[in-house]
This record gives sequence, C-alpha cells and structure tokens, in this order.
Amino acid sequence: MRRPPPERLVLLGHPVAHSRSPQMHNAALAAAGIRARYEALDVAPEDFDSIVAALAREGAAGNVTIPHKERMYAACATMSPIARRVGAVNTWWVAEDGTLSGDNTDVGGVNEAVRRLFDAKAIPPNLKVGLLGAGGAAAAVVAALESWPSATVRVHNRTASRAHALCERFGSFAQPADDARALADVDLLVNATSTGMRDDATPFDVSTLRSDARVFDLVYRREATPFVRAARARGLAAVDGLGMLVEQAALAFERWFGVAPDRATMRRAAESD
Ligand code: NAP
Repeated sequence: MRRPPPERLVLLGHPVAHSRSPQMHNAALAAAGIRARYEALDVAPEDFDSIVAALAREGAAGNVTIPHKERMYAACATMSPIARRVGAVNTWWVAEDGTLSGDNTDVGGVNEAVRRLFDAKAIPPNLKVGLLGAGGAAAAVVAALESWPSATVRVHNRTASRAHALCERFGSFAQPADDARALADVDLLVNATSTGMRDDATPFDVSTLRSDARVFDLVYRREATPFVRAARARGLAAVDGLGMLVEQAALAFERWFGVAPDRATMRRAAESD
C-alpha cells in the first residue's frame, strides 16, 4: 500500500529563522488545496538524529539546509542518483517501508537558473565556467554542470584544499584554480560562496571578466546582491539565487505530492516580506 502524502513538512537547519521556504511552500499548498503545513525547525547538531527519527515515525517530509545536508544524506536508506553524486540531500520523505528517502533538488534549481540566464530552451554547449566556492552549494553546481554538453569548470575557493577535493570527486571537466585570476576568461561565473549575504563585499572583480560573460550569484537578498549589482553596472547579464530557490522548492513539492506547484505563486511569496 502506498503511504498517504505528508501532512507535515519540515525544514531542518541551524539557524533557519531567515528562511523563505515556509512562506513559499505554504502559499503553494494553499493554491493547490493541499491541507499540509510547512514549518522551519531549528535543529542543533546534537539533536539531529532523535528529531529525524521522530519525524520519520510521523510520516513527515521536508527539506534540509545548512549545516545538515550531509547528515541527512547519511540518514537516508535510498536516494536519487543526483543526491549521491552531490553527496548531500536537501529534500527528504518517508518511503513505503518506513525508511528515509532523499533527493537533491538544488541541482535542478541550478539548471533552471542557468537556462534562464542564457534565455535559451537548453543550456548552450561548450560553456567555460568559473566557480567560486567549494561547499555544498558548489558541489550541486558541479553536479549540474556534469550534464551540460561539453562544459568545463575551474573552481576557486578561499580554502584551496576544498576546491581540490571537490574537483577530485568529479571528472577532468572540473579543475581547481588556486589563483582566482584564472577565472577571468569564462563564459559564466558562478558565486557559490556566502560572500555578499550579509555584507557589501563582492567575491570577484567583475571588471576583469569578458564583456559577454554572464554572472550567476547563488546568494539572494531582498534587493539585488552586491555581486549582481556590480556585474549589471559593468553591462553583464546577471541573476541572483532567487530563481534557483524557487525551482528547488518546486521540484521538492513535486517529489512529495506528485504534482507541480504554481511556481509564480511560490515566487511571489518568496519576494514578499
Ligand atoms: P557552505 O557549505 O558553508 O560553503 C560556504 C562557502 O563559502 C565555502 O566555499 C567557503 O569557503 C566560502 N566562504 C564563506 N565565507 C567566505 C569569505 N568571507 N570569503 C570567501 N569565501 C567564503 O555553504 P553552501 O551550502 O555551499 O552555501 C553557499 C551559499 O550558497 C550561501 O550563501 C547559500 O545561501 C547559497 N545557496 C543558495 C541556494 C539557492 O537556492 N539560491 C541554495 C543553496 C545555497 P571556505 O571553504 O574557505 O570556508
């Protein structure tokens, strides 16, 4: 017998108070006439195992954010091939046998944001990509890139050893760059560091990029991020992380309920106060 759809959806993170996921999902649930509720739960690392076990017994489902995506990956008995490739789970639910299942919808979020940035039906071939960062979000970007036709990526990170370790998990299309200047000649520059989240710092000097380069900043804020503002001032096409946030949420909704949510409703909710 199939399990009934979840009635309780929970985002596990630490901290999570800033998250826009509850407002996005609750708006989409209301629009779809689904009686479930989505809430954010601040889970300290030492409480993770007991809270997840209790949620699994309840038949809940949900998302995971910093710093628990790798812990949830380890807790899942089954997962999608892409979650395995990233090594992190951001979307989870309870399988028919009562064990946890996971997926990583950040990858689909990256794909959709980049497709829109190029204003194309599909991501163009032979892209030369520069990637800043080597954490969980950067791993989702490299896993996405792996399926783009003949794309290559240079990865630069403040802690160089993490960029080397990330590239070693993937094929030769991903190479570390200890000097950020090696990223100047790219078609697409992606910021997957947290620079610019709470300050006005930019992670890269956009004046060194080619005039036809595009910029994707995974960071999102109420107004455009400092990096997106700097790129647009230079005349470059640039997007922040809001489109990715909406798409990863929409794909998670599809995993839980088997139907697509209204993405426009989700986006409006994400943009509202
Ligand atoms: P993470 O695993 O904690 O990684 C953080 C990354 O940022 C690391 O590469 C870290 O470098 C780098 N970093 C932090 N502070 C820095 C600084 N002052 N200067 C240079 N580099 C710095 O976090 P994550 O999960 O990968 O998330 C990274 C960012 O992506 C966050 O801003 C997050 O909000 C965003 N994100 C957005 C979406 C979306 O849907 N739009 C989804 C996921 C994540 P070190 O290795 O040297 O510490």
